[in-house]
Amino acid sequence: MPVTCLSDGRAHDVPDVEFTRASGHYQAICGHTVYAAPMVEPDGKPCQLCTEMWELNHEQQRVGRFGRLSG
Ligand SMILES: [Zn+2]
Repeated sequence: MPVTCLSDGRAHDVPDVEFTRASGHYQAICGHTVYAAPMVEPDGKPCQLCTEMWELNHEQQRVGRFGRLSG
């Protein structure tokens, strides 16, 4: 889920497993360390890299499932 980072103000995509840590910071899928903004803060702009990573992951899943059709 997207989490707005205090350090760059962007909303990064953080895997659910990261929330099992109670450290207050999380590793986003783009590799950025996210320091979670308080929930009262408005959402930041989506992180471009996270968006690309997310699309890449979904593209790979699609190819993995249907990639053999042409073979
Ligand atoms: Zn990011």
